[in-house]
Amino acid sequence: MWCMEPSERYSAEELWDADNAFTTCDDADLRLLVAKALSRAPKEVADFVYCECLLQVVRMSDKGVYFSARDWGRDHHIIFSEALFGDAEDQAIETILHEVAHAYCRHVQPRCHPELSVEQTMAQEHEADEVAAGWLEMSTEAFTSRRLSGGASDEDTSGE
Ligand SMILES: [Zn+2]
Repeated sequence: MWCMEPSERYSAEELWDADNAFTTCDDADLRLLVAKALSRAPKEVADFVYCECLLQVVRMSDKGVYFSARDWGRDHHIIFSEALFGDAEDQAIETILHEVAHAYCRHVQPRCHPELSVEQTMAQEHEADEVAAGWLEMSTEAFTSRRLSGGASDEDTSGE
């Protein structure tokens, strides 16, 4: 990864338009943050997200809403809590890219796979950090320690 030519990136403006209010479920704050995050990752990662992923913050004015799998039409669903917006922007971007890396690597959700060992879960976490750090052209160690510096609310305490 380190010996590759730096990959091309889309601009945050191009990615904002690509979202079309769908990929981030019509949440303008998330749409902007995801566009900024993916402007720092290679184009193929952004293409993957805007074609195959849905990203959502669980906060909405509706009391309930229904979607079928066909409505989603996407293979990967990433959910954020509002705590994402309480972090500094760089840290929020790192959280987004970490979750996108889980999807990009086709990891599985440990809560749905109780057969996964702790070691397998930790290996997924490490790989997600390694891949996201590569997109940002930084070391995995620096990425992991910065991403986790936000405290106990981080999902990695439960291995997600
Ligand atoms: Zn994770």
